[in-house]
Amino acid sequence: MCSRSRSLRLQVDGYCRTSAEDVFAIGDVTQAGGHVDSARKMADIAAKVLTEEEGDGFDGNIPYVYSRILDLGWKFYGRAAGEVVTIGLEELGEEKADPSTFAAFYVEDGVIVGVFLEKGSDEQNAKLERVIREKPRVLNFKKLAKKSIDEILDDPHLLTPPVLGMGEFHAEDDEEMIQSVWSKFEEDGEKGGRGTVRVELMGELMALLGADFDDAEVVDACTALDDRKLGVVRYNHFISWWTN
Ligand SMILES: Cc1cc2nc3c(=O)[nH]c(=O)nc-3n(C[C@H](O)[C@H](O)[C@H](O)COP(=O)(O)OP(=O)(O)OC[C@H]3O[C@@H](n4cnc5c(N)ncnc54)[C@H](O)[C@@H]3O)c2cc1C
Repeated sequence: MCSRSRSLRLQVDGYCRTSAEDVFAIGDVTQAGGHVDSARKMADIAAKVLTEEEGDGFDGNIPYVYSRILDLGWKFYGRAAGEVVTIGLEELGEEKADPSTFAAFYVEDGVIVGVFLEKGSDEQNAKLERVIREKPRVLNFKKLAKKSIDEILDDPHLLTPPVLGMGEFHAEDDEEMIQSVWSKFEEDGEKGGRGTVRVELMGELMALLGADFDDAEVVDACTALDDRKLGVVRYNHFISWWTN
């Protein structure tokens, strides 16, 4: 008798072995099945084990699902976890040659862990698995959303931040991004970088821009930013301090 999962599927290890000696299982009857690709990969693994080749087992494979209906078709690699950043979705409905190609990147803890592509070309689809296998790092979702699908597929590490030295942090340097965070904190009606931000909010604002300051460093920064002790900071003053 083979052990079953809570969903009553047969439990198998990474080599498609059930709990019963010399009994193997693959595909939808197992807890690891559910899609054509996993069924095919498991068949391959079981065949290798049965012919005493062992191989890499199932755990080394990147989860992959696809679907095709009429002229629609998507592929998904990895895991659907974390934040979702879409590229190309906002162009749907606009006049363009191929309005139905769009992608969704799943970013968990600063790493792309899943990629979905609707109506990708063969060339684009062939690059998807690499994106997940190489675990590219992305800290800034808005920058990711501004890239084209091909830019990310051609170079998944395009947005990987440089390695940091001791005490350094990845400070946002894109002025458009800085201004968009700044406007969330502006209080005196003149939004868009023309207003001021209360000095006690600066710690939170700078943290959103990537600062990894401790309390004493926030106090030092606020003292420098509010040198005239007005209790507020002007955008121009902040941007020249932040970017220098
Ligand atoms: C409607 C639908 C849409 C799907 N769309 C997608 C999709 O877009 N993408 C995707 O990746 N997956 C999709 N799937 C899932 C995919 O079809 C399965 O994950 C895959 O077929 C599983 O393969 P399998 O070999 O484990 O089982 P199956 O393909 O079901 O093969 C099992 C075979 O065993 C035979 N059989 C059963 N009992 C016996 C018996 N007692 N004696 C002899 N033969 C028997 C059956 O007739 C069948 O031929 C879809 C499934 C369904 C139902």
